[in-house]
Amino acid sequence: MNDSAPLQHPSFRDSVDQMFTRAARLLDLGPGLEEKIRVCNSTYVVRFGVRLRGRIHTFTGYRSVHSEHHEPVKGGIRYAPNVDQDEVEALAALMTYKCSLVDLPFGGAKGGLSLDPRDWSEDELEKITRRFTYELSRRRLISPSQNVPAPDMGTGEREMAWMADAYKRLHPEDIDARACVTGKPLGLGGIAGRVEATGRGVQYALRELFRTPEVLAAARLSGGLDGQRIVVQGLGNVGFHAAQFLSTEDGARIIAVAERDGAVINPEGLNIALLREHLRETGGVRGFDGGEYIADSAAALALDCDILIPAAMEGAIHAGNAGQIKARLVMEAANGPTTAEADRILRERGVVIVPDLYANAGGVTVSYFEWVKNLQQISFGRLERRLEEHRHQMLVEELERLSADRDLGWTLSEGFKQKYLRGAGELELVRSGLDDTMRAAFQQMVTVRANDSRIPDLRTAAYMVAIRRIAASYDALGL
Ligand code: GLU
Repeated sequence: MNDSAPLQHPSFRDSVDQMFTRAARLLDLGPGLEEKIRVCNSTYVVRFGVRLRGRIHTFTGYRSVHSEHHEPVKGGIRYAPNVDQDEVEALAALMTYKCSLVDLPFGGAKGGLSLDPRDWSEDELEKITRRFTYELSRRRLISPSQNVPAPDMGTGEREMAWMADAYKRLHPEDIDARACVTGKPLGLGGIAGRVEATGRGVQYALRELFRTPEVLAAARLSGGLDGQRIVVQGLGNVGFHAAQFLSTEDGARIIAVAERDGAVINPEGLNIALLREHLRETGGVRGFDGGEYIADSAAALALDCDILIPAAMEGAIHAGNAGQIKARLVMEAANGPTTAEADRILRERGVVIVPDLYANAGGVTVSYFEWVKNLQQISFGRLERRLEEHRHQMLVEELERLSADRDLGWTLSEGFKQKYLRGAGELELVRSGLDDTMRAAFQQMVTVRANDSRIPDLRTAAYMVAIRRIAASYDALGL
C-alpha cells in the first residue's frame, strides 16, 4: 500500500458522482434536483503561515461543504500529504449521503490539511492545528450549529482537543462551544466508544449481514462470522478496531493485514493486538513474528479469502486489480476504496460490496451522540440511566408482584435484580444506539433492493435511500 492515492481516472470525485448518478437516475427527482443534490456547495481553500524551526512554513487547508440541507454540516478533518480539493469534495459528498442513509440530521462536509503529520513534532502540530482552527472559525467553518469537524485519517482525539480549545478561546461566550467538534477526549466532552466507533460499526454491519439470508446467499457465503477468512487493508483506527472485534468477539480469522511497508499473512488467523503493538513500535508490519511477511502489500488484496475489508485510502481497488480480487464480499470500511470502474468489474464478477456510505457510518453516528451530549450539557447517559433504572425498578416490582399473586413458584434472584437494576452506562447506550442504527439502515438498503428489480447492488440501494431523504428535505424547504 502506498502512502499517496493512486492517480484515479476518473478522479475520486467523478467516481462518487458516477455512483450517485446511477442511483439518482432510478428516482423521479424533478427537474434540476439531481444536480442540486450532487454538486458541492462550496470549498474554502486557505493558505496560512506558521513560524516553525526558525522560518515561516506555508500550509494549505480545505473545508468543503457539500450540502447544507441540514445544519450543522458534519465531516472529519484529514491530515495527509496528498489532500487536495478533489479529495475533500468527494469525501464531503460521501458525508452527505452517509448521514442521510443512517438518518442523522447533518449535512455533509470534509476538511483537510495537506501535510504529513510524521514530519512534525507534537508541539508543531498543535501550533498548526490551532492556526487552522482560527482560519476556519473566521469563516464559520467550525461552529456547533453550522459546521462540526471530527477526526479522520491523520487526526484523532489530540487534534480535536486542540481545535475545541482554540474555538472556545475565540468564542468564550458560546455556551455550546464543546459541540464545535466531535471525537474529543472523554475528559473534554467526548463520549465513550467514539474511538472504536467506525470499527464497531463495521462489526455490527457484518453481523447484520450474516443475519440476512438473501445477502449471504448473493455473496455465496454461509454459516456465521465464526471462521470466515478476512483480509484487512490498513491497520489504522478503523481497520484495527474492526479486525480486533471480529477476531476476538466473533471468531473470524484475520488471515492477512496489508500495511504501508508490506503485508503479513497467517492462514490460522493473526493476533491483531500484538500486530498493532508491533506496528506502533516499528512503524510497519515487517518483522512481526506472528505471520509470514511479504513486501508486496497489494498482493494481499488478491489473496483467497471470504471477506476483504479495505480500511485505508480511497482508490485501493481499481480497474487494475479488481479482476484479481477473490473475496466474495468487500466491506468498504474506508471512504471510497473502490473506484467506479472497479465497482462495475466487481459487480459483474458477482462480488457483493457493502458500500462505504453504510459500512463506515459508525463513526459519524457516534459523533452525533457526542454532539447531542454536548448540547444537552449533561453527561450522556446520566439522565437516560436514571430513567432506565426507574423503568427497570418498575418492571422488577411488577414481576415480583405477579409471581406472588399467582404463586408461580419462582422468585427473582438477587443477582438478576442487582444486574438489572444497575442500568446501562454510557458505553452500553452508545453501542446499542449504534447497533440499532446499523441494523435499521442495512434493512432499508435490503428492502429497497428487493422491491425493485432494476437495483442490482447494495450501493445503488444505499444511494437511493440517502437521495430520497435529501430530496424530501428539499421538498419540505420548498426549494
Ligand atoms: N471522518 C469520519 C467519516 O469519514 C467521521 C466523521 C464525523 O464523525 O463527523 O465518517
